[in-house]
Amino acid sequence: MFTRRGIVPEVGDFALPDLEQRIIAAGINTVGFHAGGGAEATPEGAIDFITGERGRAVLRAFAEAGVDIEYELHAMRWLLPRGLFERSPELFRMDDTGVRTPDANLCCSSSEALRIVSQRAVQLCRILRSTTHRYFLWADDGQPWCQCPQCRGLSASDQNLVIANAIAGALREWDPRARLAALTYLQTLDPPREVKPASNVFLEFAPIRRDSSRALTDPTSEANAQMVAACEAAIEFFGAPGAHVLEYWIDASRASGWKRPAAKLPYDGSVLRKDLRFYETLGFESVTSFSCWIDADYVDRWGDPPLNDYAAALRGE
Ligand SMILES: [Zn+2]
Repeated sequence: MFTRRGIVPEVGDFALPDLEQRIIAAGINTVGFHAGGGAEATPEGAIDFITGERGRAVLRAFAEAGVDIEYELHAMRWLLPRGLFERSPELFRMDDTGVRTPDANLCCSSSEALRIVSQRAVQLCRILRSTTHRYFLWADDGQPWCQCPQCRGLSASDQNLVIANAIAGALREWDPRARLAALTYLQTLDPPREVKPASNVFLEFAPIRRDSSRALTDPTSEANAQMVAACEAAIEFFGAPGAHVLEYWIDASRASGWKRPAAKLPYDGSVLRKDLRFYETLGFESVTSFSCWIDADYVDRWGDPPLNDYAAALRGE
């Protein structure tokens, strides 16, 4: 059914001592490490994790079990260090009052900004090495884009794709098999209008605004009808080969409104199976879900998370 059956935990979740064994036992074949969301998210947490003792043991266990490793991260403030603003404000975005600001993202019409970001992307991917050759270096989480005279006519999705194309080109020079995700999510949900994806850029569809209590194709959900339309438009624009779904079926952080303590997952295996049929029909071959905050505290409060049924559904069972 799906060749990639994944999970996206936060690195901090591995405080649960047997989380990697639970993932392996469930039959999940791809793990995308996440270092958190929100306006301040950076890859630092993932770097700290994999260079620490616990992270090294986790990577070893996945390698021995044949589970592929990726990193799914908001990376823009690492790729363009905010400290460059004082010397080179023109690298950064202009807000809608006409003032340059380092608060988020960058100016995608600055060739120097794209050069720095691309070069640092290669540097980051050498550290956070993917075993699938797929890379996920997202823009700042839900943050605004550039409104300078050159960028103003480009939508958030276009600006995001300009940056993705530049990074994808640099990654390909480093690793000819490297491919980069274009995250289709919040402000970048609608397809770009002005820019076409480079051949090694693929669709990553993340329907964060969906209603997870009902199937995507449930006609009684207006939110889900919008996600279905956005997903179909995204597949049409990017093409199905290589397209990847990043869902929220087992995301305890979203189910808790991103406020601890984690709530119990309102997991529904029948909704999941209907959603999978929808994605399969559109041609997706790769599916994953955030599983953030399924950690020691979660298991203490709520017992075993539904990893086995989740993985079975992804296998078509
Ligand atoms: Zn600009």
